[in-house]
Amino acid sequence: MTRADLLAKLAKQSVFDLAVIGGGATGLGVALDAVLRGFSVVVLESHDFGGGTSSRSTKLLHGGVRYLAQGNISLVREALAERAAVLKIAPHLAQPLPFVMPSYSWWQTPFYGLGLKLYDLLAGRAGLGKTELLSVTEAQDALPGLRKQGLLGGVKYWDGQFDDARLALALARTIERSGGLPLNYMEVRELNRSTEQGADDARFDLNVKDKRSGQTISLRARAVVNATGVWVDKLRQQSACSSRLPAPERLVSASQGVHVVVDRAFMPGEHALLVPKTQDGRVLFAVPWMGSVILGTTDTPRQDLPREPQAFEEELNFILKEAGKVLSRPLERRDIRSVWVGLRPLVAANGPAGNTKGLSREHTIVTDANGLITVTGGKWTTYRAMAEDVLDACFDAGVLPARSGGATRGHALVGASAAQTHKSLCESPGEHLYGSETTQLRLCPGADKALGLGLTEAMVRFAARHEYAWSVEDILARRWRALFIDAVEAIEMAPRVAEILRSETSEDPGLEAFLALAQHYQPQDTA
Ligand SMILES: Cc1cc2nc3c(=O)[nH]c(=O)nc-3n(C[C@H](O)[C@H](O)[C@H](O)COP(=O)(O)OP(=O)(O)OC[C@H]3O[C@@H](n4cnc5c(N)ncnc54)[C@H](O)[C@@H]3O)c2cc1C
Repeated sequence: MTRADLLAKLAKQSVFDLAVIGGGATGLGVALDAVLRGFSVVVLESHDFGGGTSSRSTKLLHGGVRYLAQGNISLVREALAERAAVLKIAPHLAQPLPFVMPSYSWWQTPFYGLGLKLYDLLAGRAGLGKTELLSVTEAQDALPGLRKQGLLGGVKYWDGQFDDARLALALARTIERSGGLPLNYMEVRELNRSTEQGADDARFDLNVKDKRSGQTISLRARAVVNATGVWVDKLRQQSACSSRLPAPERLVSASQGVHVVVDRAFMPGEHALLVPKTQDGRVLFAVPWMGSVILGTTDTPRQDLPREPQAFEEELNFILKEAGKVLSRPLERRDIRSVWVGLRPLVAANGPAGNTKGLSREHTIVTDANGLITVTGGKWTTYRAMAEDVLDACFDAGVLPARSGGATRGHALVGASAAQTHKSLCESPGEHLYGSETTQLRLCPGADKALGLGLTEAMVRFAARHEYAWSVEDILARRWRALFIDAVEAIEMAPRVAEILRSETSEDPGLEAFLALAQHYQPQDTA
């Protein structure tokens, strides 16, 4: 459906069973689960699908090796099962990935080897491959970029990797295909307890701003789920205030995570690298992704909650320094091609202020006295299981009638085909990311017109026609990950993308705004 079709459908529906606010991993997961149970659902996303934290993750489908170290067995076991579920429903956007933990001390191989054997056991039949102890030569063969000096071997284990922004998009499109209404660029400004609760049972009135047209739209819903990530507290407070309830306590304590992207030459091969303990106790990943290598991440408490957080100087230095300790080629600031930053929605309750490493990575669901259900925390890997918990909370609170679920575990997302095997996300991006829609993609004009970093004119047209894309940012940051791979090249590609988008939508595609945004993804050379 075009945006006009989606808006016409919105205008026709007098009341929805469920309005989900926030179109990241969490909100989209909840919406798909509810639609597949037969509820009428609208998703309202103030920016683009996945435009918040959900496009800025490390892109790992993982049980969480470090949660294992913390003894959080149930979290690890659940995430390992969910890892398998995502690999199954979106094989075009997710793949198993081998990791190597190099050993530079005698005790590391037996110690980490044992822990990772337990990881295999917890995965059970959802396991992706066996943990192996590697000799020095085997570790070097797997990771040719590894520092050789002092290397004593390593441990190889398996996890998964995915394209987070395109998975969010696939969820949104699957919601639409299943009868739901996903709308991006729709900001919920007010969420009020309905004054006229009549026969339709609507509990909430929502006041929404269409950020593309500037129009204000009102709609009604029986149940509302607040899945606005690190921003959940603002909406809870506004809605409590309008229901004359006491202001709720802050739920989220955000933590910033920085990633930098460098050339694949720093770490060739198809294995990822995990440093289990850096100087300050964090883990560090180096992950081959889309023809480049992602290095990260950091864990820095952040009180303000900007849409586009900036990396702090010390975070960049930390990543370069720690990666430099395990990679054979020296890394410098000028080697960075892109820097991007995400905010983790960690659950604040009882957490030690200022130390976000110690806060819970599990999700939390809160039902307010006015019936608003808020969900936050968790991780991408477990979005599907979180959604089931949210639906249960809606039933427990009596805001939706109970209906059985579980369909999301095997429900293939748009683009997935039963015949498709996993494609490499390590290599440069290409048509394979479209899965079963590749033929349809090629029908768009310009399939042979390359725009850079694997993007073609046809892909831009396809995104405008079928993937809710409107702006240059939508294309170059999320439909295609150019900005996340190489900010300078993305800037060069932008004018041509803008031209194609304008010819598709006849709207201003926001070229200037993109060029300003892209500056933040370029490392500032302070040397
Ligand atoms: C650095 C980092 C690395 C990570 N790595 C991994 C990883 O490798 N694997 C993994 O499984 N997890 C990872 N995670 C965790 C994972 O990314 C998050 O848990 C997940 O993306 C959170 O999704 P969300 O939908 O809750 O939040 P978001 O994606 O932020 O979505 C919330 C949405 O709500 C919208 N919104 C806000 N206010 C309004 C409003 N008033 N009206 C309408 N919409 C609104 C926002 O625009 C936003 O899009 C990582 C997180 C970070 C920060």
